[in-house]
Amino acid sequence: MKRLTLLFVTVFALFALAAPAFAEDAITVTSNKFTNNFRKNLTFVLGAQSAAGKITNIALLIQLEGIASSGRQIPDFSPGAQVQATYEWNLERNYLPPGVSGQFWWLIEDDKGNQKQTEKQNFRVEDTSQQWKKLANSQVALYWYAGGDSFGKALFDRAVEAMQYLQQDTKVSVERQIQIFIYGNRNDFFKAIPMSSKEWTGGQAYTEYSIVVINVEPNSLEWGKDATVHELTHQIISQKIRGPLGDLSMPHWMDEGLAMYYETYPNPLDNQFAAPLKRAIQNDTLMTVRSMVGAFPTDSAAANLAYAQSYSLVDFIIRKYGRDKLAQLLQDFKTGGFYDDVFKKALGVDTDGLETEWRKDIGAKPRVIPTRGATTPTPFPTFSLSTDPFVAPTAAAKPSATPQVVAVQATAAPPAPTAAPSNPLRSVALCNSTGLIVLGVIATAWQIRRRRPHV
Ligand SMILES: [Zn+2]
Repeated sequence: MKRLTLLFVTVFALFALAAPAFAEDAITVTSNKFTNNFRKNLTFVLGAQSAAGKITNIALLIQLEGIASSGRQIPDFSPGAQVQATYEWNLERNYLPPGVSGQFWWLIEDDKGNQKQTEKQNFRVEDTSQQWKKLANSQVALYWYAGGDSFGKALFDRAVEAMQYLQQDTKVSVERQIQIFIYGNRNDFFKAIPMSSKEWTGGQAYTEYSIVVINVEPNSLEWGKDATVHELTHQIISQKIRGPLGDLSMPHWMDEGLAMYYETYPNPLDNQFAAPLKRAIQNDTLMTVRSMVGAFPTDSAAANLAYAQSYSLVDFIIRKYGRDKLAQLLQDFKTGGFYDDVFKKALGVDTDGLETEWRKDIGAKPRVIPTRGATTPTPFPTFSLSTDPFVAPTAAAKPSATPQVVAVQATAAPPAPTAAPSNPLRSVALCNSTGLIVLGVIATAWQIRRRRPHV
């Protein structure tokens, strides 16, 4: 009996000894520090010790606001009873704009199987090289440092005003505050955006984080107001349409057209765009609407025409079909589907039908619309993206294995379109399957367009 008791006591004692080793507090955190060194890096440093064994595994989890999943990072450290682990997020390689916030926490494990998860901590990426001033409401925050109080207030007031009619028209209520950082000096601006940015960059939009970074010199206030509204529009449309993977399923011309429309509203279109549009109508060199579904041309004259036409199309949709239809159209884009079907459902016309109506409205000649559904090249000369209805395909044109040549022959007489129309089907595919890339292109095109007023 005594022996049995002793055994029990021994077993109990072993359990008592073993128990703390599996308890949460076997591992203690001695320090936990985040340091923001924008634009160089973000560092996360953890000090921890284990009373039971060697700490062998540490992971840092980072959850950025606006990104669906958290990232797991492995820090540098030497395993031991007492450790210091460091993780450096290299911003020069993996850029994050100022204003991004998130949470981080650590998972620590020792060789005895003890684990510990630290509390989630907030952090924010900040450009501390400037003395930022801030004006904000729940939907938009504007940060600036140059140009005095009235400069920032003028930009903020314009943003708030635009926000009101944008939300009304698009039926979007902004859920995430949009942060706008105004850099008043070109050098400062380039120290804050990705190192790989082109020298003509005027602004960058990070729709996944609802952040905009723009270079507005204090003497370019009017341009700055327009640029701010232009970017706000992209952000609001993105909040409305963006899918869970960050893809923006709408024609590029519509996204840019909306941004142009609200940037301009209620004023007439700036001559930088109005003039090429007028010329293209007169010369019958408008780009086809289908060719503007994907990325815009990089050539600045052709890009200006693409922006101008995009504006004109959105203006036409609003005038002819009304703002409610526009809101419905945006809603339908969010639901998804082929662009033609979305247009047909909301407006009663597909892309070609819309183009026909629009051309009529702006006084352009009608164009020959290729049959919808002709997805593969055919030898018929009628399959052409010709913009000239007067050069009728002739019976003499021999069916050829290279139909493009036939199409070119049929359109040889009129002036060449400003930009070669791309295959509409390929553009749709590009937009649908690589939304993130297209978003990048959107930003780039905007920068090109924005270059001119500065130069
Ligand atoms: Zn834009």
